[in-house]
Amino acid sequence: TKTLHIVGGGMAGSEAAWQAARAGLRVVIHEMRPRFGTFAHRTGNLAEMVCSNSFRSDDDERNAVGLLHWEMRAAGGLIMAMADAHSLPAGGALAVDRDPFSASVTERLRSHPNVEVSEEEIDALPDEGQWIIATGPLTSGKLAEAIRAETGTESLAFFDAIAPIVYAETVNMDVAWMQSRYDKGDTQEQRTAYMNCPMTRDQYEAFIDALLAADKTEFHEGETAGYFDGCLPIEVMAERGRETLRHGPMKPVGLTNAHAPENKPYAVVQLRRDNALGTLYNIVGFQTKMKYGAQVDVFRMIPGLEDAKFARLGGIHRNTFLNSPTLLDGQMRLKSRPNIRFAGQITGVEGYVESAAMGLLAARLAVAEAHGLDLAPPPPETAMGALVTHITGGAVAKSFQPMNVNFGLFPPIDAKGGRRGRKDRYKAYTDRAKEAFVQWLEDQD
Ligand code: FAD
Repeated sequence: TKTLHIVGGGMAGSEAAWQAARAGLRVVIHEMRPRFGTFAHRTGNLAEMVCSNSFRSDDDERNAVGLLHWEMRAAGGLIMAMADAHSLPAGGALAVDRDPFSASVTERLRSHPNVEVSEEEIDALPDEGQWIIATGPLTSGKLAEAIRAETGTESLAFFDAIAPIVYAETVNMDVAWMQSRYDKGDTQEQRTAYMNCPMTRDQYEAFIDALLAADKTEFHEGETAGYFDGCLPIEVMAERGRETLRHGPMKPVGLTNAHAPENKPYAVVQLRRDNALGTLYNIVGFQTKMKYGAQVDVFRMIPGLEDAKFARLGGIHRNTFLNSPTLLDGQMRLKSRPNIRFAGQITGVEGYVESAAMGLLAARLAVAEAHGLDLAPPPPETAMGALVTHITGGAVAKSFQPMNVNFGLFPPIDAKGGRRGRKDRYKAYTDRAKEAFVQWLEDQD
């Protein structure tokens, strides 16, 4: 039998090991804990939840992460099975009793006849054999250096500085307008590269006051602030002076308000297109440590964003991740070393559920390859397919930042024909996804 090596027994590595072992491969999980720890992990268990104990919404009809739950359950996922077995009442969310959860994942894998757990740190990229690297946001320093040496320093980040991402359709275009600064570029793609939201002086001053007053989160222990150059949180910029933002990301130059050309805005907030579909835009330069609730309140003060819905809110975290759109092929393989796949948060997805899903997928692709079969990832109409399509090509590589699953990653459903109500539309997305996902599973039998 063929052997699959998996580095990292976290959310992604554990699910990958389960999928491959079930499919008959021999699996070796190389996990550095408990020998070497990280600042966030506490135990030597596999699949430890490092922070919150929530798998977020379990609504598989109207929520993208709930849909991802559904797909993983349909694919016989271990992480979902153990989360369900150790769930705690939490309304519509799937909350998990963390210690029994990770203990049961560990027990299932350690007792599986095809699985071996090797307690060691891997510090170099392996030259031969079939490998999945799933070492997560806190990949050990030596391995991170080895990856950087292979990919180049620009292609492996140690922090994310996430600006909030807005669903394009929720921006009020009676207020905002599309334009690149100094009208650079004349292709359709370039003309839709930026949306602009104008502010009067009073609106700007009120916005600065709100930024200064907003609730902020503290850094986790072990996170340092040494990465701040070039990605200062906006509230820190505001603290440095009331004019700092107006001379930085909110500068009003090179832009003309299409709705009122004679009115020169006092400040302009720019949103940059975040995916090829044009369904998502990020607020340029707005990385932040404000609490989520405060972010929504403050960002909805921006003219044009009063009713904005956010595909993800901003943040700054210690996070090791690849520039996957340039480095990985559609099979999640490192283009320069196709014997290595990457999976989990290191590929630029964000969250327990997304990470486990990418582990599941990487393993299924590896299993097919080991058997000499061609397997395409699920189509982008599915949650798993939307995520993998985003990280391996759909995202704009230059501004690539980690992503949660959300409906903005899916091919729009009402491109043609009438608009349906929002609730109905989400149901249409999930119905379409489930059908495609079941088909993808059946094609593997
Ligand atoms: P992990 O689960 O971290 O697993 C990676 C594994 O690789 C670890 O077990 C590690 O010990 C091992 N490893 C690393 N380097 C090596 C090496 N060289 N050799 C061998 N083994 C190695 N997500 C949420 O959904 N909710 C949250 O509340 C949340 N809070 C977070 C808080 C912090 C401080 C951090 C850092 C992350 C948080 N995340 C949260 C993100 C979360 O960590 C991931 O979504 C998820 O755990 C990623 O799964 P993974 O398998 O990719 O990585």
